[in-house]
Amino acid sequence: MSEPQHTPSSPDVEHLASVLRRRHQELAEAAGARIGRGAVVHALTTHLWAGVAVPAVACHAAVDPLRLTASAGPVTCRRCLGRSRQEQDQVPGQTSLLNE
Ligand SMILES: [Zn+2]
Repeated sequence: MSEPQHTPSSPDVEHLASVLRRRHQELAEAAGARIGRGAVVHALTTHLWAGVAVPAVACHAAVDPLRLTASAGPVTCRRCLGRSRQEQDQVPGQTSLLNE
């Protein structure tokens, strides 16, 4: 019914978008994410990049989703813990896709 209006124009963007979608699905099942090999587990949220839902940490400590690695948690980042409570109230349907 709805057609995407922000179609990426370059093949590079298309490729990156598919990688990001996949990463988003992988991380969507995780309780949290580490940045690279960092010890801190961050809460996950979703950002829109070129019309694609991409994973991001709630405290915005890192902007590159490809550096995020899934973690079983628990979330140990204090800034994420402070933010995620608020965002859970505001985005109640975010995890419902996984239950279908
Ligand atoms: Zn964090």
